[in-house]
Amino acid sequence: MNTRKVRVRFAPSPTGPLHIGGVRTALYNFLFARKHGGKFILRIEDTDQTRFVPGAEEYIIESFKWCGIQFDEGVTTGGPYGPYRQSERKAMYRKYAEMLLESGNAYYAFDTSEELSELRKLFEKKKKTFTYNAFERKQLKNSLALSKQEVDELFEKKTPYVIRFKMPENEIIIMNDLIREKVEVNTSTLDDKILFKSDGMPTYHLANVVDDHLMEISHVIRGEEWLPSLPLHVLLYKAFGWDTPEFAHLPLLLKPDGNGKLSKRDGDRLGFPVFPLQWKDPKTGEISTGYREDGYFPEAFVNMLALLGWNPGDERELFIMEELIEAFSIERVGKSGSRFDPEKAKWFNHQYLIRKSDEELADLFSPILKEKGIETSIETIIRIISLVKERVAFVHELWDQSYFFFIRPEDYDPKTVKKRWKTDSYEHISRIKELLADIDDFSSENIEKIVKAWIEENELGMGAVMNALRLVIVGALKGPHLFSIIELIGKNETLARIENGLKVLGKKETG
Ligand code: GLU
Repeated sequence: MNTRKVRVRFAPSPTGPLHIGGVRTALYNFLFARKHGGKFILRIEDTDQTRFVPGAEEYIIESFKWCGIQFDEGVTTGGPYGPYRQSERKAMYRKYAEMLLESGNAYYAFDTSEELSELRKLFEKKKKTFTYNAFERKQLKNSLALSKQEVDELFEKKTPYVIRFKMPENEIIIMNDLIREKVEVNTSTLDDKILFKSDGMPTYHLANVVDDHLMEISHVIRGEEWLPSLPLHVLLYKAFGWDTPEFAHLPLLLKPDGNGKLSKRDGDRLGFPVFPLQWKDPKTGEISTGYREDGYFPEAFVNMLALLGWNPGDERELFIMEELIEAFSIERVGKSGSRFDPEKAKWFNHQYLIRKSDEELADLFSPILKEKGIETSIETIIRIISLVKERVAFVHELWDQSYFFFIRPEDYDPKTVKKRWKTDSYEHISRIKELLADIDDFSSENIEKIVKAWIEENELGMGAVMNALRLVIVGALKGPHLFSIIELIGKNETLARIENGLKVLGKKETG
C-alpha cells in the first residue's frame, strides 16, 4: 500500500436514484477510510448537464444519511478542498486541458457530430466500427491532421471544437489494480477520448482525474464498469506528471440468476428494490421501491451489501458498522461478480429484527396497530411481539402474525374447517369450554396442563383436538403456541371465541 495519507471519495453523477451497487461502492470507500484513519469525500460529478436530474443529489445525500455512511468532506460538509460540486469548479478545468495541448498530449478536433455519425454509418456498412484513434485521426478534422493555417481559419470562424486526448500508438500499458492485480492493455485498442467539450465543460475523464489529483485522493475505489477508463486515466496522470493514486475496481452486482449485471430495471421486474430509498421519477412520475420503504433496517441493508463482494475470511455474517470497519480489507474483495440474493436480504432483516428488544419493536409496531384502529396497552404489544417475532422478517409482517390477538374470528378458513372440524369436534370443544370456564389460574402452563390431561384421560387424538381448538380461537391453523394465545386474550375472550366457533361451525354430520 502506498504511504500517502488515505483520502478516498465517492463521486456520483446526479443522473437519477442511486443504485445499490453505488451504495456498496460508497460503503467500501467509507469502511476503508475509517479503517485507515483517513478521510472520505463526497464529490458530485455533474459536468454532463444533459443528464442532470432534479432531486438526484438530494436523494443521494438522504440515502447515505439513512445508511449511516458519513462523509468527512463534500457537498454537505464542505472542507479544505472545495468546492465539491464539479459544476462549481467549472472555471478551473480549461487550464488543465490547455496544459495537455501544450505538452502535445491533446489536440483540437473540429469534426461535427453529423460528420462523425456519417462516418460511423459508413463503417457499419463495411461491417467495421469507427473509432477516433491514432490511425483514423490522420484523415479527420483536427489540429494534428490540418495545417496551422487551416486550424487558425477554423478558430477565426469560431468553429466549435472539442479537445481530445492523443492516445499513444501501440504502447503496452501495465496498470496495477488492488483487486485485479496486474491489468495490461495495448493503447492501439483505445480511442482518443474527448476531454473538453464544445460547451466549455470538461468530460468525466478530465474532471475526474484533475479533481482526484487536486483533492489528493490516495485510493480510487469504484465499480468495475470504470475499468475500461483506467488506461486513459493512468495516461492522463502520466501526461500531467502527477503521481497516480492506487486503484481498486469492485466486481459487479449480478442478477439473482447470475446472468448479467443487476440493472435499475430488475428491481421492480423481479420484485425487490434496487434502490436504497423509494424514488419518484420527476419526468414520468414512475415510482421505484426502496429498501427503507419496504421495511428494511438500515443496519441490515448495510450488512447485506457489505457481504456482496467482500468476505471476512471466516463464517461470520452479522456485522454492525463498527465491526465492518474493523474487519474490512480490500484484499478480501472478490474478483468475480456477486449474485444478488433477495431471500438473503430478507434473512438479514430477520436477523436484525429478532435481535431488537420487544420494547423497541413494540414502538415500531404501535403506529401500524393504531392505523388499524387497535387500542391496546404497550405491555400487551410487547408480549405479543415476544411470541411472534421469530416468524417475521419485517415489522409490517407482524400484523399478519398477530391480528388474531386483537380480532375475534368471524369466519373460519374453509379448507381447515373441511379437514379439521371433525364429527366429534363440536363435542370435544364444548367439553373444553366447560373445562376452561372452571379454571382460575389462566396461565399458559396451567391451561395447557389441564387441557392436555383431559385429552389423554379420554384417550383422544392430541393433534385432532388441538387443531379444532386452534381453529375456533384463531380462525385458521396459524399463530404461535396456542396456550400462549389463550392466556393473552384471557378467559372471557377465549370462552366467547369458543362459543362463537361452536355456533358457526356447528355439529358435523357423520360421513
Ligand atoms: N461520476 C462517476 C460515476 O458516476 C465516477 C466514477 C469514478 O468513481 O471514477 O460513477
